Amino acid sequence: MCGISGYVGPRTDAGKIVSDGIKHLEYRGYDSWGVACKQDGAIKIQKDTGKISGVDSSIFCSTSSLAIAHTRWATHGGVTSVNAHPHMSGDGTIAVVHNGIIENYQELRDDLITKGHTFKSETDTEIIPHLIEEEMKSTDDFAHAVRNACKMFDGRYALLAMNTTSETIVAARTGSPLIVGVNKTKGGYFIASDIPAFAEHTKTVQYLDDGEMVVCDGKSILFTDIASGEERPKREVEITWSVEQAHKGEFAHFMLKEIMDQKESIARAVNQDEEQIKTIAKAITDAKGTFLVGCGTAGKACMAAEYFFSVIAEHHINFAPASEFKVYHHFLQPESLMIAVSQSGETADVLEAMKVAKSKGAKVLAIVNVEGSSIDREADYTLLINAGPERAVASTKALTGQMAVLMMIAYAMKNQLHEGKTLLLESAGQITELLNPRYVERIEKLAEMIQDKEDLYIIGKSWNYPMALESAIKIQEVSYIHAEGFAGGELKHGPIALIEEGTPCIALVGNDEVTTDIISNTIEIKSRGAMTIGVAPENNEAFDEWLKVPDVGNAQALINIIPIQVLAYYLAVKRGKDPDMPRNLAKSVTVK
Ligand code: GLU
Repeated sequence: MCGISGYVGPRTDAGKIVSDGIKHLEYRGYDSWGVACKQDGAIKIQKDTGKISGVDSSIFCSTSSLAIAHTRWATHGGVTSVNAHPHMSGDGTIAVVHNGIIENYQELRDDLITKGHTFKSETDTEIIPHLIEEEMKSTDDFAHAVRNACKMFDGRYALLAMNTTSETIVAARTGSPLIVGVNKTKGGYFIASDIPAFAEHTKTVQYLDDGEMVVCDGKSILFTDIASGEERPKREVEITWSVEQAHKGEFAHFMLKEIMDQKESIARAVNQDEEQIKTIAKAITDAKGTFLVGCGTAGKACMAAEYFFSVIAEHHINFAPASEFKVYHHFLQPESLMIAVSQSGETADVLEAMKVAKSKGAKVLAIVNVEGSSIDREADYTLLINAGPERAVASTKALTGQMAVLMMIAYAMKNQLHEGKTLLLESAGQITELLNPRYVERIEKLAEMIQDKEDLYIIGKSWNYPMALESAIKIQEVSYIHAEGFAGGELKHGPIALIEEGTPCIALVGNDEVTTDIISNTIEIKSRGAMTIGVAPENNEAFDEWLKVPDVGNAQALINIIPIQVLAYYLAVKRGKDPDMPRNLAKSVTVK
């Protein structure tokens, strides 16, 4: 998590460039911010708690050609301006911004204390400039000192460092993302956690790979391997998405914009190279065990896919939350396949699971949204879901894109790729009608009715069960209402004790072999006083409120979740919460 942004080049408004840069990276963390500008041979730092978005960029020095900035998602040390980055060396000559966790920081810090260093913050990060300062005692080459410091770190990190005696930014990464933007016409280099930080300045990028560092003086750039110092050649990649795609446009929040974008984004996900889908389907059929891994919402797409593969392809596939995957390594062999699902392509837990799979010789298929992300580049094959930038922390269009791709593969395994594609495209085509203004208004009213409730439960069966879990995540993360999802049949084994008079309970219903069962489960909770809300193609007396959805057969899970995304959005808004930046969370979870 956390966003970092740096600039070095001919422009003299580096402070503005990097502070604007982290404003575009706030989705990665937003508890505090900081900017370091080089000016007249000294480093000037401004930092504070809160969000950078409210800060006027003109407060940053206007005569600087080198600056670095950070928007934080605290891991070590509370949210205070002292703990905010950049952090400085003891002698005030070196500034560092950092994303990730230096796992052995305590040991390194103790060692530095014995050498006379004192620390101001509680962060792991602060040891980095101090270590570089220590290394600078035996060299005047800043990049060399940064390299030596990096060799001592355990854990995942991306960092930018600057000092008072050189006109360079030195950046290094192991685990967390860093991308260089090259302005070929006007000169100058941008280095950031993600492309939106500099997309308005250039669309030409170069990716740092794990274990690499880059030294940039504004006129030239050199990529090397951290450990060996060997030069690493890099190719320039032109990014294709537009800056407008990453803006809110007419919508009040990114979350609503991205929910609405599902009118088109599912069709974009379905638009894959058919031969590639067939090849992947065959790889799954031939594999000795296929494991789906993902986290949070992507994990729920994986769970739904377990049902797709079972019902559509009649093929067993295992899902494990990526953070739990380590213990499954016994089941992997060189002929096994892992399907790693992640919106950002940077999820640390997924990258760790991939490492386990690769150590066993297994192949990895990535299903990601962000091209060029670490998961994309480290996988053996990638399918991009083409959702376009997803900026709200709560994932919406990425989920339905991931499910669409996984469902297509399941159909391809049955030699029914065309049927699958047609079903998905027809279902996607119904979303425009579904999300008509009157329907959205009705959901807003429903949100008003239940906004003061403390608890909310969601039930579903078959592929609507993972969607019940996903509904709970969506409602929890943006509205902070206690929401929980259950398999409809599980209620009577415990959770039904939670139902009280007026407790809102949502039933996700399709028109399929489990419809009668889930309706019975809904009646069971209604009989105990629950206020029932049915999301279903047909109304039923079991529902106190009914949100009609089209009957789309095997694609019902993709459609049923959409009204719940809208409901979660309005619950947040009605309760006065910012749905784009929920508390304690950040997008692109790059820490374990
Ligand atoms: N571990 C560092 C801190 O807590 C960086 C966290 C981040 O990635 O934002 O300050």
